Amino acid sequence: MVVAEAASVVTTLKNAVDIVDKLRNSDSKEDLRSVASSLTEMLISARLAALALIEQKALLIDERSTLLERVKSLESEIRTLADFDLSSEKYERVQTAKGRFVFREMGKSGDNSPRPYLCPNCFSKKSISIMQLWDTEYQQYYCQACKSDLYF
Ligand SMILES: [Zn+2]
Repeated sequence: MVVAEAASVVTTLKNAVDIVDKLRNSDSKEDLRSVASSLTEMLISARLAALALIEQKALLIDERSTLLERVKSLESEIRTLADFDLSSEKYERVQTAKGRFVFREMGKSGDNSPRPYLCPNCFSKKSISIMQLWDTEYQQYYCQACKSDLYF
């Protein structure tokens, strides 16, 4: 579309130059009026084509901007997934008393910091979410990210 519009502008301008060249060899007022009329039409046509080109350029700039944002988003997503693959080696699968499987960070020797359970649903989606103890009597844990619950 852009190429066709640009070619139209170039053709119109070339035709205008040809008409002006022919006019140089004529003394007729009739020829002058005819050429003036033709040139007016050509200039209007060229102006419309130029406006279409400007609109096309604006659309292409918007499209380019949208695509660049999408590329940035996808690059960020790729980095996040790559980081998760590296860090997933830090976690171990643990079976609860009721036979469910959850994940938790592997303990390091000498490190007595708490190792919370991680939501297996979120973990399968490469996201880390801590299971919160919801009901101590039934050992019910709850994931705030995906809203799933597990009875341990
Ligand atoms: Zn979850």
